[in-house]
Amino acid sequence: MSQCVAVELKRRDYVYVMAPADYEMSGCPHCGCNECQWSEFVHRCWCPKCKVDFEPECAGVFDGPIMVELCGMLGIVFDSFDLTTQQMVPFEAPTWPLSPENPNAKVREE
Ligand SMILES: [Zn+2]
Repeated sequence: MSQCVAVELKRRDYVYVMAPADYEMSGCPHCGCNECQWSEFVHRCWCPKCKVDFEPECAGVFDGPIMVELCGMLGIVFDSFDLTTQQMVPFEAPTWPLSPENPNAKVREE
């Protein structure tokens, strides 16, 4: 008996306010486009030219421990946009998706 396992991609419920390239994530592996957007799926980006979702080869600043203050000096912010409530959530807010103060805190999903 063969078994078919459907792989279901997890949908994002928030995105960061800046584009993936601003966090030094690599662009589209197909066309090299560096103006990709967040995909609706976790761990993926969207290429507006190829119109495909892809997994970036390099996750930029998300690859290591994030030095938020250093990033701040470089103009990189981690404010997020909640796709459920359609509201901006500042990084400092207790409701920020990964905040230790957030009772509903999520695992890192970038
Ligand atoms: Zn592309």
